Amino acid sequence: MLVVATNIFRRASPVNAGQFVVACATIAPEAHVTETLLRDERQGNRNESTRQHNLSVVLSYVHEKGPITRAELTRQTNLNRSTIGALVAELAQLGLVYESAPPSVKRSVGRPSPLVHPSNDVVALGVNPDIDAVQVSVVGLGGVVHEVARRATREPPTPESSIEILIDLVHGLETTRGRRIVGIGLAIPGLVNEYTQRIRIAPNLGWVDVDYAAMVSRALGYPARAANDANLGVIAEYMFGAGRGCDNVVYLNGSSSGIGGGVVVDSRLVRGSRSFAAELGHTLVNSNGIACQCGRSGCLETEVSVRRIWKLLGDDVALDELDDVYASQDRDELAHELAHQWLALGVGSATNITTSSTNG
Ligand SMILES: [Zn+2]
Repeated sequence: MLVVATNIFRRASPVNAGQFVVACATIAPEAHVTETLLRDERQGNRNESTRQHNLSVVLSYVHEKGPITRAELTRQTNLNRSTIGALVAELAQLGLVYESAPPSVKRSVGRPSPLVHPSNDVVALGVNPDIDAVQVSVVGLGGVVHEVARRATREPPTPESSIEILIDLVHGLETTRGRRIVGIGLAIPGLVNEYTQRIRIAPNLGWVDVDYAAMVSRALGYPARAANDANLGVIAEYMFGAGRGCDNVVYLNGSSSGIGGGVVVDSRLVRGSRSFAAELGHTLVNSNGIACQCGRSGCLETEVSVRRIWKLLGDDVALDELDDVYASQDRDELAHELAHQWLALGVGSATNITTSSTNG
């Protein structure tokens, strides 16, 4: 089954949940973030030396599907009941999960299985530096977004200035009080090498070869991991949003920085070469189109532009209100139509990535 999730022109709250996935990798350092997507990585291992891996697997299930019964965890991971019991007890001791009495069901054979819940006391910070703002979110296990704080900037922030803003924003957060911050996930509108953790280039920010995760970690004192914002978006939609339960997901994320894309095929994140994201924003949609900063012309990112829509609709429309403005149909329908024709073409091309491998 294929689902197309678009977040064009909307603030990408699902990205926050993806940022939690990245930050969660810091709980179990061996567990690579995107491994949580891979079905064959979701099988437990009985070898005691891989206890940490198994903790990560069980926590991932609770994060994604919780509350979940111990019996279901046993079934999904292929681990035996007593191993699951020990792993859940350890996660509870670490304050990452808690258990409650099983739901009341008619008496059946065997003991009813307790429910394992994600802890409400553990959070990660999701950080998104963009060309016109720096945003930080407080995200809990289970993908709950507790709080979002945003500071607009007159011009694209530098890595250093974004961190100054970040420190200030984090100090002002209210929902981190009494909660444990386990790490920071950085959603970057650019190319991030997930292995070296360096930002290779974030063109709209003007950042080139920046070790941003290390800088943020030093400044705030928490472990930090960076990834492309659209890759995080597709993971979040796959786990918690429109793509839940689907094997193939195409995700487009529109922000002030342009259009990014993420693709999941057969439950695997398509990383592309050198772990860089699917650059769906640079799919050709108009052969007579506008010159793009990538060097070509007529890319989806240049033909569908939130800045141009703002120009047509007027600066008084906030980004969050665009959906309502479209729905009200009392604005320039032509602008609406033009933007969406190219968008439809771009989305159509993007879906071919997955349909070619799943149909037939
Ligand atoms: Zn381009």
